[in-house]
Amino acid sequence: MKGVGTMPYILTEKLRSLVPYDPITGEYAIRLDANESFYNANDTLKAVITDAVLSVDLNRYPDPYAVKVTETYASLYGLNPQYLTAGNGSDELISIITACFLEKGDRVLTFAPDFSMYAFYPALYELEVLTLEKDEATLQIDVDAAIAYVKANNVKAVVFSNPCNPTSNGLLRDEVIKLITSVDALVILDEAYMDFWTQSIADKAAEYDNLIVLRTCSKALGLAGVRLGFAIANADITRALKAAKSPYNVNALTQAVANAVFQNAELERKANAAILASRDELYAGIKAISEKSNKLLYVYEPKTNFVFIRTEYAKQIFQALLARSIAIRFMGKYLRITAGSPEENAALLFALERVLTEL
Ligand SMILES: *Cc1c(COP(=O)(O)O)cnc(C)c1O
Repeated sequence: MKGVGTMPYILTEKLRSLVPYDPITGEYAIRLDANESFYNANDTLKAVITDAVLSVDLNRYPDPYAVKVTETYASLYGLNPQYLTAGNGSDELISIITACFLEKGDRVLTFAPDFSMYAFYPALYELEVLTLEKDEATLQIDVDAAIAYVKANNVKAVVFSNPCNPTSNGLLRDEVIKLITSVDALVILDEAYMDFWTQSIADKAAEYDNLIVLRTCSKALGLAGVRLGFAIANADITRALKAAKSPYNVNALTQAVANAVFQNAELERKANAAILASRDELYAGIKAISEKSNKLLYVYEPKTNFVFIRTEYAKQIFQALLARSIAIRFMGKYLRITAGSPEENAALLFALERVLTEL
């Protein structure tokens, strides 16, 4: 019913230009588009998870600080749980941080290509997003240029993934520390894929007063469906983050399931080693194909669980693979392919070679 003498509600301008997130849906035999782990829990682990789920009191609110699962996660990585804040996926943490640690109109520096959500949330919260393009050939962040840019442009926050989704390239620890210590801006360092590389600074996050490290359980830990991520920062930032988040952001089932999974560290290590082996195999396979075909311009050396490719034929390749029921990620002149099981990789490589000869 319309109010009398009032203006009807109209959506804000920023909402009118938004489109709902649209991942590839539909039934595809092989899904290599979302950087998930190809491992689902095995039967032994499923039994442990079932017990954990059955012990949850569904009528009660969850632990607002997810203490138990934060501790088991921290011990898996040798971190101090005091500096961790649990989120409903690291996506939620990016949202909370950009909403609360910055003021309307503040400038946020992002890089391109990088994870799309870094520009999405700041725009929603009426921040100004500035973007530095990465070098065409290396797709690497130029740290000195970034530092100079932050200083010259009154940038209040810098956000990037390391190693990067989608480029699969990364900055060495010393370069990251140089950036953090050379600027006053808040640095939001997303280590979503650091399980696949060696340059984490999560254990040192609390030593800096302008750093928040983000971790997710959606990739190497194989819990994308469970929705759990962590922010790691010093005591002041952690306290503010816990105060700003919604009280029950991580539900009781998520806490119970993840806690059960993290107690099986041996399984996690095995899965991680298998994903790395799969990634190496996929990279070697695509590289071999690219050397035989002139249609894959460049295959970047991966530091994650996916392979990033530059090709003028990205769209045709993407569509031809979809027609063969293989989903990968299409990004303009690039393709991103997640490492799958040995069978999935073999099917992808077989199809890719065919598709390239048929183009
Ligand atoms: C997948 C991904 C995330 C999302 O993590 P969730 O915990 O599932 O929200 C965050 N950052 C990067 C760079 C990612 O690729």
